[in-house]
Amino acid sequence: MQLQPYSLGIGDRFGRQGPAQLAALKQAQAAGLAITPVWNKSQREHQLIGTTPADTRTAADQAVRAAAWRGNYFVDADHVSLKNVDAFLAPCDFFTLDVAEFIGRAPDKGELAAFKKSQGRLPGRLAVPGLEAPLEITAEGLEQFGQTYLVAVREAARLYRHIATAKGQERFVVEVSLDEGSAAQSPLELFLILSALAAEGVSAQTIAPKFTGRFNKGVDYVGDVPQFTREFESHLAILRYSRAQLGLPASLKLSVHSGSDKFSLYPAMHQALKRFDAALHLKTAGTTWLAELIGLASAGGEALALAKDIYAQARARRAELCRPYAAVVVIDPQRLPTAAEARSWDSERFVASLQHDQSCPYYNPHFRQLLHVAYKIAAEMGERYLNALERYAPIISGQVTANLWERHIRPLFLGT
Ligand SMILES: [Zn+2]
Repeated sequence: MQLQPYSLGIGDRFGRQGPAQLAALKQAQAAGLAITPVWNKSQREHQLIGTTPADTRTAADQAVRAAAWRGNYFVDADHVSLKNVDAFLAPCDFFTLDVAEFIGRAPDKGELAAFKKSQGRLPGRLAVPGLEAPLEITAEGLEQFGQTYLVAVREAARLYRHIATAKGQERFVVEVSLDEGSAAQSPLELFLILSALAAEGVSAQTIAPKFTGRFNKGVDYVGDVPQFTREFESHLAILRYSRAQLGLPASLKLSVHSGSDKFSLYPAMHQALKRFDAALHLKTAGTTWLAELIGLASAGGEALALAKDIYAQARARRAELCRPYAAVVVIDPQRLPTAAEARSWDSERFVASLQHDQSCPYYNPHFRQLLHVAYKIAAEMGERYLNALERYAPIISGQVTANLWERHIRPLFLGT
């Protein structure tokens, strides 16, 4: 199973916005751009909402039928590990193998020795086209790499074989994700990770490194954009070289997680993708839940009151809601409006605070991040929330489609 050059991680917390998301991909298609949708929902989201991976498959299949989508599509077991992969095996055909927690674990001595032997042809200088300096691979460097990454690579291989046994080889797409680790990978580390994965027979089609800077949920990148750009370009150079040299799939590409709303990065990413003629996978699922809330708030009346109720509860339960997302949200409680203050807002004011428009003086990234992690409260509301989604579907789907098409697909893939 081969993943196409451009793909977008989509899907949504409550499985209702698939057709609206596909409408954005159809707009891309009309502009000559083929993007493959990949439905994402992680174990964390399933647990918080009370859904199962089979529900995501149902939502994806229904959306594809409703929107008469004719292209390929996938359902991703997002951030799976051996502990939780089994429930994803039947409904999914894309697996994001999360091995970040195994980075830095000391390998078994025998395994480390075998790894160094398997990579024995590597030491020396490798001139990689597009990289500023050649890769210098030394025996000590390999040893150090093995100490940091070997356990993670072997875990990815174990998980890969487990899935391949259940589903059959070539019946699924594999991504390896390191993005929830603590340190960014150097170009050399990325190359060695790919080399070690190839040696283990893991035919990954996408890899999600950790980049420098912060990829907080639903808000813009926080960090040094020129530095990110250099890193992104180096990784593209490494991938191009690795595909040719290591026998990895021709479709191997970078994946950017928490990729929605990184507006300050898209122009540089677009230029780099053009320069390297490179493919990309970008995960954006979370931004759709916020577009849903914006749709509700802009509808006014009971729908606005519902959005305010969600905020009031979220503010009271901030610590609990943020805990599962501690690494990817930065909220200053002092900058959050009180529940009473938010209750006094009209639709325009609520939307202006929530909408990711940095030129708007009311835009509040703290408010936005808190609501980003507050979908558990909507899930607890059950029918009240789901009925509102039904009742205000036209205004919500307009928000969802425009958010993906205008703010994400156009600047990133089309450069417009
Ligand atoms: Zn991730």
